[in-house]
Amino acid sequence: MPDVPPPLEVNREPLDGTCPRCGAADLRAYPVVAEQGWVQVVKCQHCLHSVSREPWHRLGPIRLLADLV
Ligand SMILES: [Zn+2]
Repeated sequence: MPDVPPPLEVNREPLDGTCPRCGAADLRAYPVVAEQGWVQVVKCQHCLHSVSREPWHRLGPIRLLADLV
């Protein structure tokens, strides 16, 4: 057993498309915590270029019914 627990993993959804910077077809969308709260980012997993970044649910992974409407 390792001494340190594994880092918290969020689900990284694979996306269709290619990175505008390096051309890799390895885009993933996932939420991250930023200064202003949760944001949903689309990042190239090859060069870590942020393709898009937009505000996500205020409460992060906890989805309110209102967010789904
Ligand atoms: Zn890239």
